[in-house]
Amino acid sequence: MKPIPWRRVEKWKCVRCGKCCEELDVMVTSEEEKRLRKFGDVFRRGKVLVYLKKIDGRCIFFRSGICAIYPERPMACVKYPFYFRSTGGEESYFGGYHVYVDSNCPGVVLGHPTESLVDTIQNLLKNERLIIV
Ligand code: SF4
Ligand code: SF4
Repeated sequence: MKPIPWRRVEKWKCVRCGKCCEELDVMVTSEEEKRLRKFGDVFRRGKVLVYLKKIDGRCIFFRSGICAIYPERPMACVKYPFYFRSTGGEESYFGGYHVYVDSNCPGVVLGHPTESLVDTIQNLLKNERLIIV
């Protein structure tokens, strides 16, 4: 992961490369764990947090190039490549929060932020499941 402040990003559009489903360790909240339990033993327990299991280096739900639980995917996937923090520098400030973007995501274009990028961030901030650390 290579997070940069949102002000250095022109736009973002998912190109469906599947890289994040391979490279990320997807953390699940306790609410998400309860919700996804119906899919069986899909969790890996860390010392403190719970993650989705991986099979052959990819998320257990990544099948035939797509997410098998797309409408139900954890918030960590919904918000990727955006990260929301309560503290940070001036360049990351956004309406009371600090927003970073993983520049390793191939859908990220660097430059001056467009309105569509701002809209995307605003919409994510409206999501009640969003966790800000
Ligand atoms: S790495 Fe970025 S572009 Fe590729 S699937 Fe994930 S969000 Fe989409
Ligand atoms: S839950 Fe879906 S979107 Fe999230 S990492 Fe797994 S396959 Fe990718």
